[in-house]
Amino acid sequence: MIKIWNRISNIGIHSNLTLFEKKRILLTNRLGIISSLIGVLAFFIHLFLGNAINILHAVLIILLTLPTLYFNSIRLYRTGSYVLVSSGLLLLIAHTMLYGWEGGANYIMVYIFFTVLIVFTKNRDYWIMGLLHILVFIICKYISLNFPPLFQIPSIEIGSYVFLFALTYLNVSLFKSEQAEAEGNTESLIEAIENKNKALETQRSLVKYQNQALKKANEELEETEKSLKESVEDLRTFAYIVSHDLKEPLRMINSYTQLIKRRLHGKLDEETEEFMFYIVDGAKRMKDLLDDLLKYATTTNKEVEREDFPLKDAFDVVLMNLEFQIEESKTDIYLEEDKLPIIHAPFSQITQLFQNLLTNAIKFHKPDQVPTVMVRSKTNDRYHIISIQDLGIGIPRDKTDSIFSPFKRVGNKEKYKGSGIGLAICKKIVQNLDGKIWVESELGEGATFYIAFPIKKRLKKKGE
Ligand code: ADP
Repeated sequence: MIKIWNRISNIGIHSNLTLFEKKRILLTNRLGIISSLIGVLAFFIHLFLGNAINILHAVLIILLTLPTLYFNSIRLYRTGSYVLVSSGLLLLIAHTMLYGWEGGANYIMVYIFFTVLIVFTKNRDYWIMGLLHILVFIICKYISLNFPPLFQIPSIEIGSYVFLFALTYLNVSLFKSEQAEAEGNTESLIEAIENKNKALETQRSLVKYQNQALKKANEELEETEKSLKESVEDLRTFAYIVSHDLKEPLRMINSYTQLIKRRLHGKLDEETEEFMFYIVDGAKRMKDLLDDLLKYATTTNKEVEREDFPLKDAFDVVLMNLEFQIEESKTDIYLEEDKLPIIHAPFSQITQLFQNLLTNAIKFHKPDQVPTVMVRSKTNDRYHIISIQDLGIGIPRDKTDSIFSPFKRVGNKEKYKGSGIGLAICKKIVQNLDGKIWVESELGEGATFYIAFPIKKRLKKKGE
């Protein structure tokens, strides 16, 4: 029963409505139900008593109050409310017409009851209708001098009225408490929203502050990057100037020591001859070092034109340049020629790169073995990877990164001549192409150098 009551009370109420509208519709629905129930009750009682006019009257109540529920259910709330209020007025008029002014006044209580509820809903339209009812009541009261006392009202109707008033009181108090609760809810809701707003505001200022800090950090980073670039450029210029300009006095030292050596040939004792050898050797080594340093300083991605060429062509040049070394050392070279890709890079730099790597692979062979070098090629979806493997002395595992820095050498520096700049140049060339270079090695286990060239699409995107 309660379930049915609740379900009918909630007819037409949906979540999009405001809280106040929900309450109002709830009230009109309940009023509609009560009125209809009274109509039904009156109908049967009058049917039992055989009072035709009252039966009609009861039917009228039902007919006039049920549409309210219908209109509410199809969300025509305004129409529903008008029907309800108008039904009261119509009943009043009908009653007055049937029973005269006394009869009309007799029925006025229902309209007062309607009016009370309507006024409670605080709706302007209802106020007007409510006032209209009160007006009709006053007119009835003053026109009808014989205002009937309550006891003349049929007992069933008194019962209905009592019932109606009880329910009205219940509804109104319910409405009031719900409204108070809603207001309470609204207050706590507002408070929660305000708190959230405050939190949001704090967050916003935090984000703003973070943004500012980020901006500042970015600016600082840009500044650092700029000054770093400048330092690198300065260093490169410095290395260039030093290596270039020192070459001339060195050439002088070299040629004059040679001259002295020739002039004093045979006149010097053995020890002085040895000293002379060291001077000449030192000068030569210094010359080689300056040559390499110059190469390193001039290896740059700027102004170097890139082209598409088969890597095999670069190896042909390298092997030609190293012909003497290969023959002399009887190096065994295995080259996967047909697998070598076409790459997009500066040709001269690529020959330089592989020449350095092959030179090392030949140079750092085990004393009791002929050098063996294997060049292989692999391609994945992003890189062409070339590997150069030798079976030489190998590199300690903890040095496999540092050897790519300028002047970093490992092992016997006397036995294996060099300046320690070759791999640094290799690294620079590969990095300029957005590639990677690394080595896998163990001491005494040979070494495998890998060079990954980004495939053409990526190169073009970044490099051109
Ligand atoms: P350099 O060969 O002139 O010494 P590099 O920069 O070419 O200079 O090489 C740096 C160091 O890395 C070498 O001195 C050597 O110790 C080590 N190295 C390079 N290649 C090899 C290799 N294939 N096998 C063993 N050691 C190597």
